[in-house]
This record gives sequence, C-alpha cells and structure tokens, in this order.
Amino acid sequence: MTGAWYPARAVVDTAAISGNVRTLARAAGSAQVMAVVKADAYGHGLLPSARAALAGGATWLGVAQTGEALALRTAGIVEPRVLTWLYAPGAPLADLLVADVDVSLAAPWALDGVVAAARATGRTARVHLKVDTGLGRNGLTGPQLDDLLPALMRAQADGAVVVVGIWSHLAFADTPDHPTVRAQAGVFEQTVAATERAGARLEVRHLANSAAVLRWPSVHYDLVRPGLAVYGLSPIPDQATSAQLGLVPAMTLQAHLATVKLVPAGQGLSYAHQYVTTQDTTVGIVPLGYADGIPRHASGTNQRPGGPVQVGGRRLAVAGRVCMDQFVLDLGPAATDVPGDLVTVFGPGADAEPTAEDWAQTCGTISYEIVTRLGAQVPREYV
Ligand SMILES: *Cc1c(COP(=O)(O)O)cnc(C)c1O
Repeated sequence: MTGAWYPARAVVDTAAISGNVRTLARAAGSAQVMAVVKADAYGHGLLPSARAALAGGATWLGVAQTGEALALRTAGIVEPRVLTWLYAPGAPLADLLVADVDVSLAAPWALDGVVAAARATGRTARVHLKVDTGLGRNGLTGPQLDDLLPALMRAQADGAVVVVGIWSHLAFADTPDHPTVRAQAGVFEQTVAATERAGARLEVRHLANSAAVLRWPSVHYDLVRPGLAVYGLSPIPDQATSAQLGLVPAMTLQAHLATVKLVPAGQGLSYAHQYVTTQDTTVGIVPLGYADGIPRHASGTNQRPGGPVQVGGRRLAVAGRVCMDQFVLDLGPAATDVPGDLVTVFGPGADAEPTAEDWAQTCGTISYEIVTRLGAQVPREYV
C-alpha cells in the first residue's frame, strides 16, 4: 500500500526529530542518548526517524522487535550501537549477533538461547541484563538474577557473552517525586554493584525514559532511552506541554475532503445518527477512519464533540461515528469549503491546529497511542 495514491498523509519533520534529540541530549548531561525507534519509530517511520535521531546526536538506537534491529543494520546503519529487547524462544538470535546487535537478557531461558547463537556463529553476544526493579513487567527478578549469575559469568569466561549493560524501566517516571523512582534506582544500583562484583565490566547502565530524562537527572547514569520526546510529544502532558519542554512534534496528519454537500436540519450523520444537524448545513467527508488509526473513541455527538481537526483555518470536530475509512464534519451553513480542501487532523500546534495530545485527551488515552496506531497504509512524507 505504501507509495500508492492515498487521500491522506503523515508529514514527518525530520529536522524536528534531530532538534528534539539535541534538546534531550542537553538534558541528559554527560549521559549518551539511545533514541527509541520501536513501533516503526512511534509511527513516524523507522529508517528516516533513526537517521534524523542520529543526526541530532543519538549514539544508540533501541527497538523492542528483533526485526526492526535487523532492518536498521540492513539499511546500512552500522555505526551506532543497537539494542533489541523483546523476543521469545525461536527469535533469530544468531542473525542479531552477526548483525552486531546488542541483545537484552530478560529471562533465564534467554541465556541458553544467546549462548547457543554465539556458539553457532562464533560471535560474542553483547548482552544487557534487564532487571525488574519494581515495574512488574519484563526483566529478571532479584532471585532469578542471583540464580543466573554463575552461568552468566561462565558464559562470559568462555567468550560466548559479554555483559555490557544493566538496565531497567521505571513505573512512575511521569509522576513528580514518586517514591518508587528512588526505590527502583536503589534496587538498580545494588544490582549493578552485585553484577560488577561477580565479574561484569559494564559499559552502560540505563534506566531513564523520556519523562525521566526531563525530570529525574539522578537516574540518567551512562545512557538514557527517550522515545516519545524524540518525536516531540510531551511525556508529562499534565505538567508541561511540548513547547514548554522545548520539543517540537514531528508529525502532521493531513487528509483532503472527499465530498462536500448540503444537508437539511435534522439529518443524522454517520452510523446510528449519534450527531444530528441542528440547521440546514454543509457536511464534509474526511477519508480517514479507524482502519487508518483514527480512534473510534473520537466519534462525536451533539453533546460531546469528537476528535478535533482544522479546516480552512477553523477548528471543527468529528460529527457522528468514526467509520472504518471515513468520518464526517459539520462544516456549518456558510461553509465555502470544496472537495480537495486540506484537513489537518493534528500537527505541532504552531498554527492553532490540534495536536496528538488533543486527540489523546478526546479519546481518553495517551499521545503514544495516537501516533503509533496510525496505519502503515497512510503514506509518510519526510520534510
Ligand atoms: C518504550 C520504552 C522506552 C521509551 O519510553 P518513552 O516513555 O517513550 O520515552 C524506554 N525504555 C523501554 C524499556 C521502553 O519499552
């Protein structure tokens, strides 16, 4: 689908990505920056976003999926370190080692997998121990790590692995002064000390996501891992906007009106007529729907406006239900809009257009979800 003609596009400002990384690098002080480009760079496109982040000073790239790590290397991004962290038995670990990708070690079984891949390829696996310091998600628990350390150090002595990093993830980085951040940092530092005592020579200790880069300097350590903020969105929208954080949202989602027509007062719009026109008016059809990633939760009623858009310099809202491929706007009785006119769904907000954060608030979610859910079929255009 990508490359085919489409009545909508996501315009991605790569200079904004580079600039955001520069801002984050300043906030990170002496720590290096790993730009997190998982989930197709939060919907912005893996390779152009990765290159823009590197141009902004990132020296590491991080992805959840092994396929994305391999895609970075295949595309010729060979200089920066790449870390991949979410895989299950059967993952192409040998390919990752051949591609010089660092792998996370988050479960006991993964050591056997990594050692087997190292033997099969003759490579030494560079591993980062993922420790569950309190998030309660992926990562080795304290007892699991204690049990694993002897085998891990034997594998290191054999040359199968080298433990280059220890890392973890915070549960409340976005909450000011949350006591769990200090508690997790304490567990993290104890784990680092114990692993070094066992014989690890760590290159990098890393704990901070976007919110922690911006708000918790005490946990920057050697490397920080911002994701959302790389794309210019605020990870702490209830405390600071993108602009207040010095970030520029990189994505603008645009479509073109497919139809404009007059309808009478009392006309229900879209499935189940959840919005009914209150006067003779003009409606416009926007050719984007939930199959493209427009949340159905952005549907609007007469009482509760749906997702916000900008058309002809004015702010409108989704009227009625968001459908699979389209939604409807009530353009008003005096509308002069014509088919083909630009609809800005969200953008940086500099021209009073709505932002991904506005959509997140309308839909009761976070801006992470608004940008990552954008369908792969919507063309990305890079400026
Ligand atoms: C997604 C992710 C990040 C980046 O988080 P942001 O909140 O987007 O900055 C960092 N580390 C891990 C382990 C992640 O999964």
